[in-house]
Amino acid sequence: MKKNITAWLIDGPELKNVPKEYKAIWAKSVEEYKLKGRAGEIVLVLDGISPSILVGIGGDNNECDKMRAMKEAAQLLYETASKHKFERIEIGGAPKTACGLLEEALFDAEYKFKVGNKENNKTKIEFKIINSNASIKKRAKEISSVKSFARTLVDMPPSHKSPNKFAAVIRSEIKKRKLDRKIKMTIWDKNKLEKEKCNGILAVGKGSANPPMILRLDYVPRGAKGKIVLVGKGLIFDSGGLNLKTYEGMKTMKCDMAGAATVIGAGILAAYFGVKNSVTVFAGLAENMPGNAAFKPGDVIETRAGKTVEVLNTDAEGRLVLADLLNLAEAEKPNAIIDAATLTGACVVALGEEYAGLFSKDAKLSESIIRAAEQSGEAIWRMPMGRDFKEKLKGDISDLKNIGNRYGGASTAAEFLDEFIDRTPWAHLDIAGPAFREGKGKGRPNGATGFGIGMLLRFIEEWQ
Ligand SMILES: [Zn+2]
Repeated sequence: MKKNITAWLIDGPELKNVPKEYKAIWAKSVEEYKLKGRAGEIVLVLDGISPSILVGIGGDNNECDKMRAMKEAAQLLYETASKHKFERIEIGGAPKTACGLLEEALFDAEYKFKVGNKENNKTKIEFKIINSNASIKKRAKEISSVKSFARTLVDMPPSHKSPNKFAAVIRSEIKKRKLDRKIKMTIWDKNKLEKEKCNGILAVGKGSANPPMILRLDYVPRGAKGKIVLVGKGLIFDSGGLNLKTYEGMKTMKCDMAGAATVIGAGILAAYFGVKNSVTVFAGLAENMPGNAAFKPGDVIETRAGKTVEVLNTDAEGRLVLADLLNLAEAEKPNAIIDAATLTGACVVALGEEYAGLFSKDAKLSESIIRAAEQSGEAIWRMPMGRDFKEKLKGDISDLKNIGNRYGGASTAAEFLDEFIDRTPWAHLDIAGPAFREGKGKGRPNGATGFGIGMLLRFIEEWQ
């Protein structure tokens, strides 16, 4: 017999529609523990007919926070159940519209990164959500599984993921998921990058023994409706280059390729679910190292688009990679371009570790992304762009400088990218905060989060 437990999500202190056999005992617990039914609250009720768990999901009014509360509740439920060695949880109280995300978050909770074949010793818990069904669960499981793959890429040590190794892992994953007939993968190595004048990514990769590359994925469904290009920053490791980072700044820099992992994950899911829009992914993979051929402060680079950039800080390298990628993206003539990048520390200073910055001059595109993020329970916040920031990037001896002054750095970075977009609706997601957690928080595991994949999938499904 499996060790079962019943859990109930409570939104506020009132107990609505709860099973009558638990009603009195839970009401007592609500009073005893002064439960307000808010996100982050969890109580294991041991008296009564059998043990049960109450977990709060309320307290926030906006749609996105409500969905984020579901994810937090799932993580707390998983942790509590595994600590007390329960093998099966039946969960009630979830609104129908949140079941998919709750299922997804329960699968996510099983994720644990280990190097090589070291086993994931996390407890497998069987869970059943009362309002859910088999097809909701199946979809959630697939999303979570691709998210786990993307999280693995981010958590993987730099020693295990040079651009070459990274590309090999992507290729075998696509094959393993039997998507190699749906997704075409193309690599541009250093020679090809030279021929194509991708001098931004080439400059950034010069200081490393492992040459840079661009990885491209194409998914084109029959009778494709629209075309979306996703662009990801894939700095396998960012030492800052000759403008070397500090110990504190460098220790988590294996995560500087999270943007690439996010867009690759979204591309894989789009193919798996057979969405109606075609999706092209460009990931710029490079290592920013201070080797003897490294690019230098003061260097002027002619980007693929022809604009020249004076490099005043080699640690502002992501935008140089993205400049080339966005130029390639535009050439595809898509209906929308979205890039994801762990681009600036300034964005984390402005918005904290949980929120991504959304930068776009296109109202329709921004609204669609915000709506998708509400459904996926991912926090994003629209940030300013415009002339005030663009001014700071005017070059003295070149078209552009790669940094402005110390203020508004996330917005100047976005304006830098904007220089490489001509006409396509475009949005930039600065995920430097939420892509990777250094410490564990309540209901929030540490390490790679898979941030943005759920949002991009929902966006791709809806965009027209
Ligand atoms: Zn950097």
